[in-house]
Amino acid sequence: MPRRTVTTATSPTRAKSRSSRPLKPLVTIEAGAKRRFQMRLLKWYRHYGRDLPWRKTSDPYRILVSEVMLQQTQVDRVIPKYHEFLERYPSFHHLAQAPSDDVKKTWYPLGYNIRPLRLHSIACETVARYGGTLPKESEELLSFKGIGRYTAGAIRSFAFNEDAPILDTNVMRVLHRVFMGTGDPKAQKNALWQLSEALIPKGKGYDFNQALMDFGSMVCNARDPYCLLCPMKTFCKTYPFEPKR
Ligand code: SF4
Repeated sequence: MPRRTVTTATSPTRAKSRSSRPLKPLVTIEAGAKRRFQMRLLKWYRHYGRDLPWRKTSDPYRILVSEVMLQQTQVDRVIPKYHEFLERYPSFHHLAQAPSDDVKKTWYPLGYNIRPLRLHSIACETVARYGGTLPKESEELLSFKGIGRYTAGAIRSFAFNEDAPILDTNVMRVLHRVFMGTGDPKAQKNALWQLSEALIPKGKGYDFNQALMDFGSMVCNARDPYCLLCPMKTFCKTYPFEPKR
């Protein structure tokens, strides 16, 4: 009997809203592997997911601050600064009113100082264009300078509970290893974005995306993944991972 497969093409309804032609699927996933991946990832997350401060809020401002801080910086360095920053600037309005030099000083020592300036500019724009409330539509989020596809997906998913895809370094690594196994992940970004969208179980985008990020950081890490203990090893295309020498 032929194996039933699912493709990563966006659903016809969603695709129609962006274009008259449905997207061509760039990668095919076996239906069983998709289901197993979803179930095992969510189960793993229920047991081992991290308890992080930005998972206790759905405030788009707080989610945005955490996402910008987490770009290029480890979680344990971000946590104290996240609290300090929010105490000083508790809303888009507070941040927009602050002088950008003060924002940069508060940001220290996280580094990559373009980030506080971007955050400040997003706050000014949110206040000027939306009265201090971040919009939830993808196109509007992407129109902000400093909000790219990943950040827009994270805001929609973590603040507005939408089934929006995300693709950061961790997610890219996990999806590429499990479902592709060959080639350079960076050269397959479009297919990985499609995968990230197609894999989200309906109505569970928040947990699924948080789980993907934790799994990529704690199990399927870059250099030394825990393949022997991994719940995906029965269908992972990279199992067992062999580090390059
Ligand atoms: S089996 Fe190894 S490479 Fe595959 S998902 Fe698990 S940890 Fe990652």
